[in-house]
Order: sequence, then structure tokens, then C-alpha cells
Amino acid sequence: MSKKIILTGERCTGKLHLGHYVGTLKERLKIQESGDYDEFYIEIADGQSLTDNAKNVQKVKDNLINVALDYLSVGLDPSKVTMFIQTEVPELTELNFYFLNMVNLSRLLRNPTIKTEIKQRGFNESIPAGFITYPVSQAADILGFDGTIVPVGEDQLPMIEQCVEIARTFNNVYGKTFDEPKAVISTNKVCARLPGIDGNAKMSKSLGNCIYLSDSSEEVAKKVMSMYTDPNHIHVEDPGKVEGNIVFTYLDVFATDEDVKKYMTDYSTIEELKEHYRRGGLGDVKIKKLLIAVLEDLLSPIRERRAIYEKDLSKVYDILFDGSDKARKKVQEVLARAKRNMGINYRELLKGEK
Ligand code: ATP
Ligand code: MG
Repeated sequence: MSKKIILTGERCTGKLHLGHYVGTLKERLKIQESGDYDEFYIEIADGQSLTDNAKNVQKVKDNLINVALDYLSVGLDPSKVTMFIQTEVPELTELNFYFLNMVNLSRLLRNPTIKTEIKQRGFNESIPAGFITYPVSQAADILGFDGTIVPVGEDQLPMIEQCVEIARTFNNVYGKTFDEPKAVISTNKVCARLPGIDGNAKMSKSLGNCIYLSDSSEEVAKKVMSMYTDPNHIHVEDPGKVEGNIVFTYLDVFATDEDVKKYMTDYSTIEELKEHYRRGGLGDVKIKKLLIAVLEDLLSPIRERRAIYEKDLSKVYDILFDGSDKARKKVQEVLARAKRNMGINYRELLKGEK
């Protein structure tokens, strides 16, 4: 049995949002609390963030600390998980250098997530080479830790598939070096890809359609109030559609029947609310207020923890630097093994001959 080594992370292109929470952070907290793992690494992918933000280093730097604060505020615990900065572990780029030879360009361009992201970013013909190849660098991030379990959102499945292919090719060419990692995706389809507040298929930092974990109560309320419901549900008494109605989509993810009992007077289940909405007679404001209350219950303890860490940012950097030192030691071992298998461990070979 291979070891349970968990590797996961985020780009630091913005603060983390509800999509991150239900798509991956919640799963990480569950694993952290279960203690059922051998090693647990969380990467802040500042290097990968530069692949589409090369001229915007300040944005990446600012968000490095934002993402770290988000991790700590949701309850990820540095005594249980190793949080590190990607560029503080330069051995990962060396591994990427060798991995780039394990994949061809047309395969990289077939990646459906990359295709969508290229369109979203409007690169047209001038796609940075680093951007197209970021799935390879992500494979180095995972395999560089001998990662076997990768909790991610659904958009990352093609990346993990690419990573598995690279591990296989490397093993075929240079002999067995890497175990094949597995993605862990939320079994709830909506959680695996939470839509944005604008109804777009994915809540995403780059699309600006997010409720952030660090948003104030006022910001959350304003965003929920601005959410689309059913465009044909104009008057309270009109029958409304629940399917595709983003407020109900969110209620399905975030609210329980207990919440309905707690915050509504005349209803005791979400199903009852839906039935009434379908029949007509239930206004958008009422369901939005319920969603605001439920999100408040989720976000207020996160905000409180964040406020504590925000007062001592040097401590947060120390956590990241300590984590990076630990991460680096691990990757150095894996890289040495890979180079040994490739036969480019010249110094060891020469010593052996003496
Ligand atoms: P960017 O727009 O810069 O790519 P992002 O919002 O997609 O940012 P990432 O840092 O790329 O965030 O993703 C980090 C992790 O969070 C990945 O595992 C990704 O699958 C997951 N994730 C991001 N957005 C969502 C979402 N809306 N629903 C579920 N999981 C998500
Ligand atoms: Mg992304």
C-alpha cells in the first residue's frame, strides 16, 4: 500500500471564495480532523499564478498572504498540515523541466480546462507558453511530494489525468519512480463546481462572480440580494422555477432543514419552500434572507479567526516559511530519486566508481 500523501493548493490570484470552500477546503478540513494520512501539503501556487499574471507581480504577492489567511481562518492547522509557497521550493521547477519532455504540445492543447481558461482570459494567439504548460508544472507539484491523494474541484480533473499520464510515461522511460495520484472530488455535483453568483457555470476569482470567505456581512448581503432568481418570477404570486435558480442552488448546498426551521416561521423543510415557490406566493426576498442568514452562520467564525491572524502577519509568514523549508526537504529527496532513475546523478555515480 502506498502512503497517503495529500497534496493540494490554490493559485494566489485572489481571495478564496465559497467555491473553494465547498469544492476543496471542506474536504481538507475533514481529512485533517480524521488524521487519516501520512503527510499533508498545501501549496500556494504563486509561480503558477504568474503564468497569466506575469506583469502583475504585486497582485500575486498581495494574494499570497490573503490565501494564507483564508487557509488559517477556515481552520487549516499548521501543526497538522504543511502550508508552503511554490517558489520557495525551486526543486519543483527542476522536476517540471524533466516532465516537460514527457508530454507533447498537442496533448497539452487538448486539455478542456485549459481551452476554457484560454478563452476566458482572451489570450487569442498570444498564449504564454508557461500558461499552456502549467498542468505539467502542476504534475511536478504533485509528484514532487509523492502525492497520492489530491482533493480538488471538478475543473481540475483534466490536470490530474495529465499528471497520471506523466507519471506513467516517466515510469516507462526511466523505471518505476512515481505512484499514480488520485483526485478526490466532492460527491455533490454542485459542490464540485459551484456556480457564480451571476449564474456562470463556475464561481471563479478570474470571473469576479464570487462571495469571498473574507467578505463582510454587508458585502455578502448585497451580493445575495443581487443574485438572479427566475426572470419570469416578477410578482410574488407568480409561479417560480427552482431548477437553475441560483438562490435555491445555494440553499441546497449551504442550508439544512434545521436552518429553515430556525430562520423561517411558516416552513420546516427546504422542499416545502421549493413547493411554495413553484406554486407562486413566495417572494425572492424571503429566500434570499434565508440564504444570507445561513451564509452568515458559516462565515462569521471564519471572519473572527481571520481577524486574529491579520493582527500578526509576520507570524503568518513564519508559518509559510517553516512549511516551505519542510516541503523543500521532501522534494529534494524525491528529485534525487528521479534523477537517479534517469541516470543523471553524476556525483553519486562518480563516487560509486572510486
Ligand atoms: P482562477 O480563476 O485564478 O483559476 P479559481 O477560482 O479557479 O481561480 P484556483 O486557485 O484555480 O481557483 O482553484 C483552487 C481549487 O479550488 C481547485 O481545486 C479548484 O478545482 C477549486 N475550485 C475553484 N473554484 C471552484 C468552484 N467554483 N467550485 C468548486 N471548486 C472550485
Ligand atoms: Mg482555476
